[in-house]
Amino acid sequence: MLHTSSFVKVSFIVVSLVSAVDARSEARRLVLVRDGHPLATIVLGKKPTTSAQLAAFDLQYHLRMMSGATVPIVREGQKTRGALILVGDTDRSGALGYRGEDFAHSEFLVDAAPSRLVLIGRDTGDHEEVDYESDLSVLCRYHALTQAPLGTCHAAHTFLERVLGVRWYLPTEIGEVIPEQRTIAIEPMKLRRAVKAPYRATHPYAVNRNLCYDDYKAVDWQHDEHYDLRSGVLYWIRNKNWGGPRLQVNHSFVNWDRAFGAKHPEWFSTKSWEKMQKLDYQFQTNPCLSQEGLFQANLQIIRDYYDGKPEPFQGAYWSASGAYFGICLNDNGSWCRCAPCVAQYRPEAGDEASLSNYFWTYVNRLGRAITRTHPRAALIGLAYSDYTVPPQDIRFEPNVGVMICRMPYRYWHAAYHRNDYAQIRSFLEDCGAQTLFTWEYLIHPWVDSNPFTPVIPRINARDAKYLTGLAAFRGGYMQLHLDAVMKDGARNGLVWSHPVMDHFRLYFRLKIYDDPSLDVEALLSEYYEKFYGPAARQVLAFVAALEQRWSDPEARAASGAFPHQYGSSNARVWWEHLGTRAFMNRAEALLKAAKRAAPVGSVYAQRVDLLDRGVLQLLRNNRRQFAGSGLANLPPIPELDVPIGAAPRLDGRGDDAVWRHVAWQRIERTNMNAGAPAASRFKAVADRDRLYLLVECTERFTERIVAQMAGRGPAVLADDSIELFVSKEPVGGRYYQLGYNTLGSVFELALDRTGKSGDTASWRGDTSARVALHANERWVAEIAIPWQPFSGGPVKEGEIWRLNVCRNRRAGSDKVEFTNWSVCGGGFHNPQRFGRIRFVAAQR
Ligand SMILES: [Zn+2]
Repeated sequence: MLHTSSFVKVSFIVVSLVSAVDARSEARRLVLVRDGHPLATIVLGKKPTTSAQLAAFDLQYHLRMMSGATVPIVREGQKTRGALILVGDTDRSGALGYRGEDFAHSEFLVDAAPSRLVLIGRDTGDHEEVDYESDLSVLCRYHALTQAPLGTCHAAHTFLERVLGVRWYLPTEIGEVIPEQRTIAIEPMKLRRAVKAPYRATHPYAVNRNLCYDDYKAVDWQHDEHYDLRSGVLYWIRNKNWGGPRLQVNHSFVNWDRAFGAKHPEWFSTKSWEKMQKLDYQFQTNPCLSQEGLFQANLQIIRDYYDGKPEPFQGAYWSASGAYFGICLNDNGSWCRCAPCVAQYRPEAGDEASLSNYFWTYVNRLGRAITRTHPRAALIGLAYSDYTVPPQDIRFEPNVGVMICRMPYRYWHAAYHRNDYAQIRSFLEDCGAQTLFTWEYLIHPWVDSNPFTPVIPRINARDAKYLTGLAAFRGGYMQLHLDAVMKDGARNGLVWSHPVMDHFRLYFRLKIYDDPSLDVEALLSEYYEKFYGPAARQVLAFVAALEQRWSDPEARAASGAFPHQYGSSNARVWWEHLGTRAFMNRAEALLKAAKRAAPVGSVYAQRVDLLDRGVLQLLRNNRRQFAGSGLANLPPIPELDVPIGAAPRLDGRGDDAVWRHVAWQRIERTNMNAGAPAASRFKAVADRDRLYLLVECTERFTERIVAQMAGRGPAVLADDSIELFVSKEPVGGRYYQLGYNTLGSVFELALDRTGKSGDTASWRGDTSARVALHANERWVAEIAIPWQPFSGGPVKEGEIWRLNVCRNRRAGSDKVEFTNWSVCGGGFHNPQRFGRIRFVAAQR
């Protein structure tokens, strides 16, 4: 699958560079520099745009780095020498018929003739002076405040990249590849095109100057000297990540509590302003989309936005920019429980689909209503949380598009990959969405969860190729890990933390978003050749080993992992199955070989060293963190005999005689194998039809117990709750997740692990709980689990099942405490770690 030895010839240089000047063809070539002497002048208009000024400076810089020659920059009307390089709007380029305003957004032109070169595209009318040696914050203002096209920069950077062979693989000078060339002469050519994906957004602007953090022992990684705005600005502009229209799509009900909570508590899931004020609005409350008043208020806000009126309250336009108004619910699972809302939920569809019809019906209705008064208004709904999966039987209005929140790093799972693409197709074909945006989570798995780092350039390049092949694709947002840097104890800006680790996922996306005709294999090959020179093959072997390992089906299968697991829940997958000692030794040997191949003191050696510091040492550090944690030494999987006998009377009191004959099982460890802050315990008995659990959770702060969810649904788990996991031996197939809060509300889910939407499939467990609260002491639940929905019949003596009893405690502190009977070593969704229960005859 991975090509480790074949280098594909780079095919996308439009005009090859001429090294020796051939006298016969000299006349038809444009000579910019000969033998280190400038033979051209860079000409800007009398009042050049900010974009054109930066383009001129950056062109001058690269020509000097290539040849040693400083090609002068003049304003039109000043004296010139030799060939003319016309950058942005000038009278001369105007006379040739080229005017920036005639270009579309992100469109540009490179036109080379023997006596002149034209580099032009659409810029804005911003003319602020650019100081090239400064931090270039002038370009940040330009980028952030206006929807600033950078067409002239795109022209200059395309010329440098395609014609002169320059690359910008990483920010700062070490990331620049600039071929040395004493003479720069080019063939006539003409290239006019636009960047393919119109919307390209990343955050933040500045980069970590060191390109990776390797001070692992530091309490925090955030130092002011890491902050490098100039290198960030240049990296984003050179790689055409900036220059598209502004895009801002996010949780769209921001501050609606302050605007409407007191007057219209019925618009929110709490139905009470008093309750709402006690909660974190964004993370614990949601709007009630069944309220007509809320719909009309939302419609009015959108109308105001398109009418150009000022924001009616702060945050009302938080999810809007330019042509688009985005719609997305609050960032939590506490959905409204009113009857009209609940009637629209489809829990049987699975946890990423249960609200799809509810949410998309609302967005579609907004789309239909706004188009009557504002035919140019366009909405983007975010496919996120419980409305990620395309809705059933809904045809989108022509002005409703979708932004899908995506995790291609999970594509090691073939079924997940197929399912993900099937969902995209369904949004486009079944729902008829005419615009598709993506929110790419390039931050997962979180770097601070000490992961096996996903160095997966090919997965990302191929995925970008797929997306850009879809006619509806408009680009989107790429979320990178960022850190706040501190100065004198105060926050002093944000930096992109780990470019070395992230560029494998980001860079190739940027290239293909710009030009989807690029060949993925050629892009990858030239990356190794150009960036690592004599160490290209060795670095390729190192990167390929990491990418192969990330996707290794055998290691993944052995670990029992499935795509839903990410973050800290994967620690054991990462370090016991992927980053094993044997694999780490191999990776180290491969990098050592790369170090040997890169000449001492060369820029190639410095880049290999960056891979050492930013990737290999990070892997080693993360593995060490794991080995030193309780996760590497989990207690044995507990086993329990469950007697089949009489059923206890269930009233939440737990004092039935049946319970007296069985012993308590203690829940005393967290999911990460630390001591539990609050103890819990349980007993289990069965009759032929049901399993019964008595679970007791000690709780000193019963008045702080979170109990929001009064009905069925996943929000039960966002309360103080007991979570059960049940599966039949052997593990590897279907398993069940059950949840109960202190109100006795139930959550039930069947998971078959075949992919993103493999959950539930209209399964219902018919389980129930009776709960009793003992003030500032404990809460007790008696739970009945009928066998019929799980196994289709009564349980038999000798049968072995898998069970885990877990607790989500919120009453203790701001941080949720996860404890479990069998220690999972991460997320609870770890069937291999479920405890074993064996059914035996009751002894009387
Ligand atoms: Zn409601």
